[in-house]
Amino acid sequence: MPLDTIGALGAFYTPMTDAFRPAPSVDAAPEPARASPPGTVAPHQRRRARRYFTLSFICCLFLALWLLTDYVLPDPNKAGLSARPAPAPTLIMTNWQDIAPMHRRSRTATLKKSDSLAALLAREGIEPVAADAALDALQKVFDPRGLKPGQKLRIFTEWPQDADPDTQAGRFAGFDLIPRPRQRIILRRTGHLTFDIVDQNRPLTDRFFVADALITSSVYEAARGSGMAPSLVIDMIRLFSFNIDFQRDIREGDQLEVLYSRRFDGSNQLAEEGDILYAALTNRGNRYTYWRLEHEDGSVAFYDETGKSVQRLLMKTPVDGARLSSRFGMRRHPILGYTRLHRGLDFAAPTGTPIYAAGNGTVELVSRSREYGRFVKLQHTNGYETLYAHLSRFARGLKTNATVRQGQIIGFVGMSGLATGPHLHYEVLHYGKPVNPRKLALPPGRELDEAGINALNAAIANAQKRVRSLAARANTLTSLPLR
Ligand SMILES: [Zn+2]
Repeated sequence: MPLDTIGALGAFYTPMTDAFRPAPSVDAAPEPARASPPGTVAPHQRRRARRYFTLSFICCLFLALWLLTDYVLPDPNKAGLSARPAPAPTLIMTNWQDIAPMHRRSRTATLKKSDSLAALLAREGIEPVAADAALDALQKVFDPRGLKPGQKLRIFTEWPQDADPDTQAGRFAGFDLIPRPRQRIILRRTGHLTFDIVDQNRPLTDRFFVADALITSSVYEAARGSGMAPSLVIDMIRLFSFNIDFQRDIREGDQLEVLYSRRFDGSNQLAEEGDILYAALTNRGNRYTYWRLEHEDGSVAFYDETGKSVQRLLMKTPVDGARLSSRFGMRRHPILGYTRLHRGLDFAAPTGTPIYAAGNGTVELVSRSREYGRFVKLQHTNGYETLYAHLSRFARGLKTNATVRQGQIIGFVGMSGLATGPHLHYEVLHYGKPVNPRKLALPPGRELDEAGINALNAAIANAQKRVRSLAARANTLTSLPLR
């Protein structure tokens, strides 16, 4: 409480003395003219006059301050208090944090490409000693080197309650950030150069949504139009691409229905996208329905109602958003000029489009040749190999004998080697013989045992219940068909 008084008085006195400072110069300016008409006043008289003036000025100053503090701005809590503590500016500065509560303001800063947290704090004008102390404290709990460009940081500034944040400079009070959807790191200033770190768990709640759309142009647009996030749409397309040829099979009027989740934090803000729980595509009268099942080892796979895995040994199209530009079979080579077997499929796609490993396996070759340019060859089970050619570049760290997972990015579309435009040349070999990737009758990626079938039935019942309750609520759903 005494500090509170000091704080109040400090904040009050500082501007007041400033306001008084011009006064002596205004009053003192005419003084030499009055005290020394040339040749008429003796030096000792001048000195005495100056002393009188200084004394009376100081008396006036004290009187004015006393009047102001007691009458003009009386403190209701301290009425009748006879002894006032003298203002002590240095004490106020070092004990800011003890005068609670403080004014706090925050602003958001974003980590840039090849940026460090230290560089960001410097750019935000945080004084180097405070920034260093903050980062030292942070590193005991959290390694900021793992932060990615685009990471947001909320930086706090604080002022004593009596200060005016609009005119007075505040003090760096710390920051907070959400490095992962379920984690918040709070760094709070507690003293001169001391900081507290709180590593907070953010509990997230799953909420469920149904995307229900009639396909008019593309599956992607239909799904985006019904509110699904791009990352989930890509997952969904990959899911269907094992059995449906998006270039040839999709027709206007086909229908899409997806049950998916999103995760929200305690203040109802979207923290991250969740999962697809069930996806159905009605394609030219055939309905393809896949259900998500999480296995006991934590892995996730999609199955149809009979328990057949959707994922196959190999993907048919190992690149997103591509257009099939050349089929498997005999054709005239566009550069070599003569007719020969086209051993694979060509997918036209912009340079830099990611290319996925079509299946789980190991890297057999990361190489280049005159014809294929940069190419990757993967070895899979059951005698299968896949080859990806004309790449603009390989995925970082891709090396011979490395293990790859289905859907992992192995390189990017380009036009290296003999190519007339950017495209992926994709080959599938079965015991060394080129086969048409479109005609593959591949074994399913996984078979369910009896316990697996039971778990799948439970997952199906659960998802159906959610869809029904969402439809019954009829909140944002306008076109969900009644079943
Ligand atoms: Zn080709």
